[in-house]
Amino acid sequence: MKIKSIKNLDLNGKKVLVRVDFNVPLEDGKVADDTRIQATLPTIHHLIENKAKVILMTHLGRPDGKVVDELKLDPVADYLSKLLSQPVRKLNECVGDKVKAAVDKMDPGDVIMLENTRFHIEEENCDENFSKQLADLGDIFIIDSFGTAHRKHASTYGIAKYIPAYAGLLMEKEINALTEITKETPSPLTIIMGGSKIETKIGLMRNFLNRTDYFLVGGGLANTFLSASGFNVGKSLYEADKTELAQEIMLESEVLEGEFLLPEDVIVADEISDDAKTLDLPVRDVIGDMQILDMGKKTLEKFEEVIAKSKTIIWNGPVGVFEKKPFSEGTRRIAQAVANAKDAKTIIGGGDTIDAIKEFGIDLNSFTHVSTGGGAMLQFLEGTELPGVKIVTE
Ligand code: ADP
Ligand code: MG
Repeated sequence: MKIKSIKNLDLNGKKVLVRVDFNVPLEDGKVADDTRIQATLPTIHHLIENKAKVILMTHLGRPDGKVVDELKLDPVADYLSKLLSQPVRKLNECVGDKVKAAVDKMDPGDVIMLENTRFHIEEENCDENFSKQLADLGDIFIIDSFGTAHRKHASTYGIAKYIPAYAGLLMEKEINALTEITKETPSPLTIIMGGSKIETKIGLMRNFLNRTDYFLVGGGLANTFLSASGFNVGKSLYEADKTELAQEIMLESEVLEGEFLLPEDVIVADEISDDAKTLDLPVRDVIGDMQILDMGKKTLEKFEEVIAKSKTIIWNGPVGVFEKKPFSEGTRRIAQAVANAKDAKTIIGGGDTIDAIKEFGIDLNSFTHVSTGGGAMLQFLEGTELPGVKIVTE
């Protein structure tokens, strides 16, 4: 896969439309976490240094085609302006004559930010006319929003029909890191999967079945596999209609001689709260109203052992309800074990997984690659061609 890079591109004086992922959490009208903005700074700096006219586009939240005051991008533009130490002019629209006029007045090195693209229903519909109106603003299109690369929206895909598309530096880094992991990697290869929904994860598991040495499964996901293995999971979160699928995966993994490890002991409680009373029980003792909310001590020790001897590790999904103290230990220890695996190539991704790691105060630099994509990373690793990747590769 050859990436259309911006590294050797003549950007001087060009009007460059850049799709970024500035879908950041806001609190009291201020940016509460700037990880996604930081991730795109290399691209923005590169464009400014090379004298491009930088036109940023992003969505924020889910306004569903209407103007929602709380989802206007002013606080994001203010924040970026401080990071760049230069003005970032936020426009009140993302298409139209006024936008065009503002763009025409730009000088090389200027940065403007268009208003939230999802204020238009045409964005998510990838409407041709809307895509063209956006494309009319620029000479070239750069996609740097890996987190939205699995979406076929006007600003992530539609524009590429009208002007040449290139991968931003973040996009290029993501594609390279994740492509590498889909090829031959040092073994043992361990995949740690947790979180809630089996559907979003199963594709990845399947795609890696033939070369995964260890699957370590936790979280709500494990409950579905435990139930599929015949255990009573009480009132735990699990997907009853997915047990056949779970059985299939376990069987295939067994045939291929990968080890498929589920929790042997689990932390249970009757309620999900900060002062819940917990028990560490063997899985077979789970009954009645109990909910499985984290992995038990024995399981953790075993998983830590496997992680320590692995040479390639992919991790997505918390292995317990880490948001509540009594159930956060499993995820914390897994995070620490993966961070400590210094001889291994470690790839992590998923919104909640990364939130958890940050909450535990573990340095994100401890990992080989921290993907900015949740759904996008999972789909990339299951072998699906992402629309946003397709337009910048050949
Ligand atoms: P990511 O965003 O990292 O891909 P997911 O969105 O798939 O992860 O899953 C994260 C959610 O899964 C968290 O909110 C966490 O509380 C929940 N979860 C993990 N384990 C359990 C469990 N045993 N029971 C219920 N929910 C769980
Ligand atoms: Mg999530």
